Amino acid sequence: MTVSGKKQTMGFEVPGLTVEENGHNFHIPQKGPSTEDTTTAASDVLETVSKSPLPSHIMQAAEEQSSAPTPVKRSSKLRQQLDVKAELENRQGGKQLLNLVVIGHVDAGKSTLMGHMLYLLGNVNKRTMHKYEQESKKAGKASFAYAWVLDETGEERERGVTMDVGMTKFETKTKVITLMDAPGHKDFIPNMITGAAQADVAVLVVDASTGEFEAGFETGGQTREHGLLVRSLGVTQLAVAVNKMDQEGDVAFVPTSGLSGENLITRSQSGELMKWYKGLCLLEQIDSFKPPQRSIDKPFRLCVSDVFKGRILIIKSLLSCFTDQGSGFCVTGKIEAGYVQIGDRLLAMPPNETCTVKGITLHDEPVDWAAAGDHVSLTLVGMDIIKINVGCVFCGPRDPIKACTRFRARILIFNIEIPITKGFPVLLHYQTVSEPAVIKRLISVLNKNTGEVTKKKPKLLTKGQNALVELQTQRPIALELYKDFKELGRFMLRYSGSTIAAGVVTEIKE
Ligand code: GDP
Repeated sequence: MTVSGKKQTMGFEVPGLTVEENGHNFHIPQKGPSTEDTTTAASDVLETVSKSPLPSHIMQAAEEQSSAPTPVKRSSKLRQQLDVKAELENRQGGKQLLNLVVIGHVDAGKSTLMGHMLYLLGNVNKRTMHKYEQESKKAGKASFAYAWVLDETGEERERGVTMDVGMTKFETKTKVITLMDAPGHKDFIPNMITGAAQADVAVLVVDASTGEFEAGFETGGQTREHGLLVRSLGVTQLAVAVNKMDQEGDVAFVPTSGLSGENLITRSQSGELMKWYKGLCLLEQIDSFKPPQRSIDKPFRLCVSDVFKGRILIIKSLLSCFTDQGSGFCVTGKIEAGYVQIGDRLLAMPPNETCTVKGITLHDEPVDWAAAGDHVSLTLVGMDIIKINVGCVFCGPRDPIKACTRFRARILIFNIEIPITKGFPVLLHYQTVSEPAVIKRLISVLNKNTGEVTKKKPKLLTKGQNALVELQTQRPIALELYKDFKELGRFMLRYSGSTIAAGVVTEIKE
């Protein structure tokens, strides 16, 4: 369950027994005198076995030990006296035993989640937790403090000392749970299978954070693989823990059924759903979204998403052949900043052409003006339709948007497999445009949190990094600096059908 994935969590103790598991020998010290003959030791083992809920592989190991050359005197008397059913009911304060495996992709947070739970349940005392916090901070891994609750047992086992059963056991209202650990890394699938084979039930930890969720499902991702594995190994009950929700600030999860209409416009009345969901229905959730701050005070900007001639305009333009007056055309798009009124002069970039607004429609209704946030159609005159493409930006002629082919940007690289090098070809997605571009220069690698330069002129950029780069597009595009216009300063980079980075414009070159 750790990044290193070296540990196995199988919390059982059998005195006098060496258990080999996944290549590690765990010797459990004998309680009796060392001179005790093997027969007695073996029968002790069997006795312990008969009283403990041991997993099958340990039972087998114990039986192998007992089949020494001297015939084993089985304590049949003791066995007959034991009413296992009744004993089972009374054992552990009447609580049933359940073996739980925690599965999921590497770094999904399995150790942290279970470590934190054990701490909250009081299985780790405050002083020990404080020690983990201090030590993990010192090691520069403060975020792993809770994971260390489980990691310590891992270390102990690697050193071959007795396992601390208490660490991996916890109690619920009606059950005593034995927690089994499953390393998330794909190299540790065999260990995970061992854990899962002994489990009755499983908790699948899914990382909800952007990029990581996807990584868990893509080729080599263990979210899917672990799910399938535990099912194939006979685990039929599964709880999905959606983790790292603290990073999903404004994300609401709403269970719905498109087919039955459940929880769409009225809250669900279904008993099954109400058992675990008390939140809003989808319509209520949509209603509770807060509208964003619109940049109404800033200069006018509209990104063109469509260019067309309406039916009336086509007839008019046919007539205009005779009258020689431009009948105009329509553009649609979202007003990102400022506002527009009928009669305004507008400049289109990159073509650098001006026109006049003849009409405005909002939701198919003619209006006299429209402002930031509105999705409108503008009827324009005095400009040739040929000059205008999807991706052009209309702006006020006094505060024009800049057009360029070269700009600098801070990018956050996603989960990429091929590192980004100088000359890397990408598709730049910006507003309504998608334009071929290349990463012309790798300027520096930046610290994700502080933005400080950690490396100048890197040779390559890898997944998860923050970097300053220079991009060159094939054709000019109209851009804004992120610091001036947040909405118009963001873009995405794609390569070979997948999104590889998100970026913000920091400098416009030419
Ligand atoms: P495992 O490989 O699945 O056992 O994952 P770990 O428990 O070792 O956690 C991997 C990283 O994710 C660590 O840096 C944790 O601090 C971090 N992490 C775990 N759970 C959460 C969470 O709920 N929120 C956030 N933000 N980070 C988490």
